[in-house]
Amino acid sequence: MDDHNFGTRNKRGDWAPNGHIEVAPFWAWPPKLMTVLKWLPEYVWPWNAIHMATALLYWFYVVPDVAVMKTLSWGWPLWLYAVNAGAIFVFYGSVELLFYVKRKQGNRFKYNAKFPGEQPSDVFWFKSQNIDNFLRSFFISIPLWTLVEVLFLWVFANGWVPWLSWADNPYYLAFLVAVAPMIHEVHFFFIHRLIHWGPLYRWIHSVHHNSVNPSPWSSLSMHPVEGFLYHAVAFWHLVIPSNPIVAMFQLHIAGFGAVNGHIGFDKLEITEETPIDTHAYAHYLHHKYFEVNYGGDGLIPLDKWFGTWHDGTKDGDVQMQARFQKKKERMNAKAARANS
Ligand SMILES: [Zn+2]
Ligand SMILES: [Zn+2]
Repeated sequence: MDDHNFGTRNKRGDWAPNGHIEVAPFWAWPPKLMTVLKWLPEYVWPWNAIHMATALLYWFYVVPDVAVMKTLSWGWPLWLYAVNAGAIFVFYGSVELLFYVKRKQGNRFKYNAKFPGEQPSDVFWFKSQNIDNFLRSFFISIPLWTLVEVLFLWVFANGWVPWLSWADNPYYLAFLVAVAPMIHEVHFFFIHRLIHWGPLYRWIHSVHHNSVNPSPWSSLSMHPVEGFLYHAVAFWHLVIPSNPIVAMFQLHIAGFGAVNGHIGFDKLEITEETPIDTHAYAHYLHHKYFEVNYGGDGLIPLDKWFGTWHDGTKDGDVQMQARFQKKKERMNAKAARANS
């Protein structure tokens, strides 16, 4: 598939999509019903459908009996960790293998012309982004993901929070499933914005941002504080009346869904004729410019409301530069006051 029909490549070989990143159409005013209806399948397929499928597979084949989960022990949490690690190894690993190791589509639709493997750097363990990101994912973030999972299952199993049944609350629980990606977006935006605050950034979030040119292994490469807060989104289902399957779906949107923003390609050519959209561009721009797009790609357009949205166009660039310039002036004025 020819990526020139969909975007442009600059002198460095970096590719950028045409058009602009659009926020979800239900924010349009006046409302455009047809556009919303056309957008719905894209909301469900393929990413949220995959997260729901894995949540159900976990619930029916992985999660132990409620009686077992009433008591904390080592056995069942270690089992859950093994499954989480195995699943991420296969899910992220297959994207990494096909598109970064075998490079099956070369750099077609790739935002950054370079591959992380070609750029050794001192900021990474063993000077390798791939090894560093891999180790942090499997030995820091996935254990913390598992910790969150174990805690909410344990709380549900003991009946300390409401466990709504599908038979009695089908509409309410279906609604919760439908809005879970939005809960994710809001949770992620605020914890992410928080750890971009200077001191917290240096202590916590800089680890994730070492990967300026992210690949799938970068997705869960996080400092432990971020690794825990990020997955703790599932705890909202202990606060609002819910069901553990919905909480599991919420957790999988975080754990498995983290790859979305870090794929590095705009489209993955599963076959030449059937590419899938990755929705990775907004978060790619975040890794490139740091202080834009703290949220996802506009499902809940918090970045628009807070003035940090970059829609991937020249105009988005101009607005961002103006904001950076203002910030610089503010900092200079502050420094001048402190010195006088
Ligand atoms: Zn990221
Ligand atoms: Zn960030």
